[in-house]
Amino acid sequence: MSQLTVKNHNRDVIGFKYIYPVISRRSGGLSIGINFNTNNACNWACVYCQVPDLSIGAAPEVDLGLLARELSDFLQDVLHGDFYDRFEIERDKRVIKDIAISGNGEPTSVKKFNRVLQVIIERVEQANIPDPFQYVLITNGSLMHKPDVQKGLQLFNRYKGQVWFKVDTATEAGRSLINQTAISTQQQQENLMLSASLCATWVQTCVLSYAGHEQDSLLSKPEQAAYLVLLEKVLQNTKLEGVMLYSVARPSLQAQANSISSVKEAQLEEMAGKVRLLGLQVRVSV
Ligand code: SF4
Repeated sequence: MSQLTVKNHNRDVIGFKYIYPVISRRSGGLSIGINFNTNNACNWACVYCQVPDLSIGAAPEVDLGLLARELSDFLQDVLHGDFYDRFEIERDKRVIKDIAISGNGEPTSVKKFNRVLQVIIERVEQANIPDPFQYVLITNGSLMHKPDVQKGLQLFNRYKGQVWFKVDTATEAGRSLINQTAISTQQQQENLMLSASLCATWVQTCVLSYAGHEQDSLLSKPEQAAYLVLLEKVLQNTKLEGVMLYSVARPSLQAQANSISSVKEAQLEEMAGKVRLLGLQVRVSV
């Protein structure tokens, strides 16, 4: 039997197709991950991505019956079974902190996104998880223009869900380099405003060091200026919950891995100070 710790993030540990448990240091408990991208496909190809064999594409259609069964069975095991004992989880981590839609790829690329969320919420509500726990959607935000995704966010909002919206850079050159996507800054800004207008939205930003591309790092002055302008523009139109600044905690599984490294906490803190001047709360983690 495997032990589940803050360091062991093996997604196959319970042998389910869609559901995986993570003991999270950040949240101090159990995060129940839901992965629609069982084909390891994403519409972006971030250089720091930890998805193995990442390919460009969308999530395959979800088997809703299987997803519902896996979720109910897992929640039953956690809430009324011996899950915590079997995986030797520390006493103070034996609490469900969040249900996180966070795939091996972009989760909003799944067909019938809203319907899939409905199934998840139905099963979670039936299980009667003790409060407080949080629904979280971790997304690159690039598909916010899809009506079905917008409906999903409205549903998520009714259950006090949060969107964690990826903004690693606010320039086209930066996105082309770091996220390997051609999405425009205008589109990125509109997507972020749309997300924030539909559901509580946190900006999540991975700050990294990319050898040979120091000028494109978010620690460079022009990149930081563009990032702060983007946040400012969004705040003029809508509310953001805050910003999460973090660096690469685990090795990239992409071809650029050898050039990618983590930045220092002090560098993140310095940047956090500038973001806080916009009136936003900032969480820093390395
Ligand atoms: S958006 Fe997420 S899943 Fe997609 S490539 Fe980037 S880090 Fe990987």
